[in-house]
Amino acid sequence: MSLLAVSELGKSFGGVRAVDGISFEVAPGELLALIGPNGAGKSTTFNMVNGQLRADRGSIRFDGQELVGMRPRDIWRLGVGRTFQIAATFASLTAVENVQMALLSDDRKLFSMWRRAAQHRREDAIDLLAQVGMAEQADRPCSVLAYGDVKRVELAIAMANRPQLLLMDEPTAGMAPRERNELMALTKRLVVERNMAVLFTEHSMDVVFAYADRMAVLARGRLIAEGAPAAIRDDPKVQEVYFGTGKTFEKKRAASEVVR
Ligand code: ADP
Ligand code: MG
Repeated sequence: MSLLAVSELGKSFGGVRAVDGISFEVAPGELLALIGPNGAGKSTTFNMVNGQLRADRGSIRFDGQELVGMRPRDIWRLGVGRTFQIAATFASLTAVENVQMALLSDDRKLFSMWRRAAQHRREDAIDLLAQVGMAEQADRPCSVLAYGDVKRVELAIAMANRPQLLLMDEPTAGMAPRERNELMALTKRLVVERNMAVLFTEHSMDVVFAYADRMAVLARGRLIAEGAPAAIRDDPKVQEVYFGTGKTFEKKRAASEVVR
């Protein structure tokens, strides 16, 4: 049974068909990587699922419910989480304060109540930080944390509303290879422990092949391939889009790091 079922989804900007009738599904406990060259329509797809953009056509069903036309906040409340970058204004807050903020909004409390709620759900926030290996750094401002550690805090924030589906658009952008692998290993662990579904985009083919259960490949707004990583690796259409005909991921492994 799929948790997310995207069907014939489409979105144009002026004359550009950013997403041109794509269909795919994500099951609970599954990590699906959405890959494709720059401009393929990955972010547009994400933003239609999370409600930031309204689809022109097609349907997005989450646990049977139609998401097209729903507001981002209501989609979030249903259990569709997404990772956000900690904004500059929040970097002065500590790791635990940032997670407490997320828990506050989960409780539908208002930002203006923050001062009164300084102790609000601190224990819960620490628990979430512990799950991403950041409990010891809970009281350090995010502005002084290592980049990879900030990404862990962002993951804890995204987990605050206990999402059944987590959307991660380029979660490892700007990270060193070792940090990337740590973040994805952590995500994989959360997927298994919580039977959560994850839809993510990623540039590093090494990361995709190491962690994705399945892959969907977009090119110019269309889904050109979908399946297990091994099958995708051997798919001539995918190889053509990425590297030109006749060349395999293996031979061009180094190039995968620069494909955007
Ligand atoms: P990806 O995330 O795969 O790099 P995007 O979904 O961001 O691709 O973009 C897909 C296409 O839609 C691109 O041609 C891009 O220029 C265009 N596009 C995306 N967002 C907008 C927008 N807000 N306005 C106009 N064109 C857009
Ligand atoms: Mg993008």
